[in-house]
Amino acid sequence: MPELPEVETVRRGLQPALEGARFEHVLARRRDLRWPLPKDFVRRLEGTTVEGLGRRAKYLLADLSSGEVLLMHLGMSGSFRVFQDGGTDMPGRFHHERTEHLTHDHVVFEMSSGAIVTFNDPRRFGFMKLVSRTKLDHEPLLRHLGPEPLGNEFDATLLAAACRGKKTSLKAALSDQRVVAGLGNIYVCEALHRARLSPKRQASTIASRAGGATDRAERLVEAVRAVLGDAIEAGGSSLRDHKRTDGELGDFQHSFRVYDREGQPCVTPGCGGTVRRIVQTARSTFFCPVCQK
Ligand SMILES: [Zn+2]
Repeated sequence: MPELPEVETVRRGLQPALEGARFEHVLARRRDLRWPLPKDFVRRLEGTTVEGLGRRAKYLLADLSSGEVLLMHLGMSGSFRVFQDGGTDMPGRFHHERTEHLTHDHVVFEMSSGAIVTFNDPRRFGFMKLVSRTKLDHEPLLRHLGPEPLGNEFDATLLAAACRGKKTSLKAALSDQRVVAGLGNIYVCEALHRARLSPKRQASTIASRAGGATDRAERLVEAVRAVLGDAIEAGGSSLRDHKRTDGELGDFQHSFRVYDREGQPCVTPGCGGTVRRIVQTARSTFFCPVCQK
């Protein structure tokens, strides 16, 4: 499943094709994605211009000149392809069951920029939704999301306040979208290792008694930002298929410190520990019991 860094990489890849461009033709080949495409989808898009392409957690948000926002989610296996100037680009460089088979090209945008943007999704867990910009704050999919992990709002004070009194594990707290938005299993494991904090630690222990930030909360925020920043730089991870579009090996999976490294030596200098796998809330957690306390 694409995680936040991949979605951000996709956003950056789509930006030149979409931003400032008008939808000239929209093809809705298959309407039954995770949810049916919105009523009058084609008519509401054609003729409008994309004023900006943003991201909230794992949602892409295209701000339209019509006053609506096109909300897009990749689901489990969704991807975009951009045809432009005789070439094809697949932003994100990841291959989660990506298929080039045209039967899975469900939505096609022909843009005034000359770009043709295709949404392909074999498993159809992805979706598109049109929301009035004025109602975006009340949108059920976005309303309960916590702060963006790469935004200015997310800091040690906020994280500590969110964890105050929480009896759940730190792993569960960080995976809670209300605490911080868009962090999935991989990056939670990686951030905890970088911060040298055990995933089993009770979440409340990163807050002071009064609910203020501790050194642990500071370390954790720094680690979350670093882990996501590195992944975006590397173009997202690519777990299922390590090959990039150019056939080279992807970069980021080589720099996972704990994720999917059960039984291998911990990479923390001088640690000497071995990466362990445990199951927490039905998901695998990878961590080093020696340097993560
Ligand atoms: Zn270690």
